[in-house]
Order: sequence, then C-alpha cells, then structure tokens
Amino acid sequence: MTTTGQPRTILGPDSVSVISQLDRFRDALHAIYVDLENEIAALAPRCDLSGRCCRFLEYDHTLFLSAPEAALLVNDAGPAARPLDDGATCPWQDHQGLCQARHARPIGCRVYFCDPAYQGHAPLLTEKYLGRLKVLVAALDLPWLYAPLHNHLRDLAPILSIPDATTSTK
Ligand code: SF4
Repeated sequence: MTTTGQPRTILGPDSVSVISQLDRFRDALHAIYVDLENEIAALAPRCDLSGRCCRFLEYDHTLFLSAPEAALLVNDAGPAARPLDDGATCPWQDHQGLCQARHARPIGCRVYFCDPAYQGHAPLLTEKYLGRLKVLVAALDLPWLYAPLHNHLRDLAPILSIPDATTSTK
C-alpha cells in the first residue's frame, strides 16, 4: 500500500537530484550515444520492429541503466506512451510497439537487436560504452546507481507526472 502524495524512493535521493545536474552532462552523454550509434550502424544489424526489446516480462529480460541515463531519458524523452507498470513494459513503447524516446534512450536499448548474426556484439558494445560512461560519471562526480529501469522510474516518475497504473484507485 502506498500513501497518497508520498511517492516512495528506491534508489535514494541521488537518483532524483541527478536531474538537476543534466546540463552538466547532457552533451557528453549524447556524444557517447552518437559514437555507439555509429558503431552499431557499421555492423548493420537487422531490426524486425518486433518491440520485444521493450516488453521485459514477456521476453524475460531486464533493462539496466545508470542514474544519468535515467535522468536524461525521463527529462528529455517527452510524454510517456503508457502508464508506469510493475516492470512488464517500458512506458515509452507506444501501442504499435515503437519507441517514443529514441533520442533519449539509454545504452541498454541502443545495443538490443533481435538479429541472430549480431548477438555477440551486444555485450562487447555494452561493456565498451558503459566504460566510457563510467569515466564521465567519475569525472563529474555523478551517482552511478546502475539498476533496472523501473527502479529509476519509481523515483523519477512522480516528479514528471508519468501516470502510475499500479497505484490507480479508480
Ligand atoms: S526507451 Fe524506447 S527502446 Fe528503450 S525500452 Fe523504452 S520504448 Fe524500448
């Protein structure tokens, strides 16, 4: 049971405060994303537009991301396409299965493709670009807080008014 008006935090106050520091790292984080996208483009993995990368429960996987990635996603992605649930789906996957947060999505989303010929690349790219991100986080003394998406959203969504399907009383 939750208390109305008292959203619980999961990762702690650093998770929320990092949003106020977005201007310190937004450009550098986008530069990491651009380099990753360029490297993936060179590999040319096939995307079937299945949407399975965003349906975590159905396809038995968990999207992990750091606090700076979560802050950029929640602040810059625009309105969520669906209410926040208990972790089954991503709020930015629209009802056609498409991502409505592409420019702000984290590394874990960018490296995910269903193409069997690509599978060996995902862990290597993840390690490489999380490594770059860790260097940035350390340089700017930001919180890392690498955790599942919904842990971040439990902290950040109330601030940014993502409707919460799990606490609806209507
Ligand atoms: S941010 Fe976009 S790509 Fe990532 S899980 Fe959500 S809908 Fe899918």
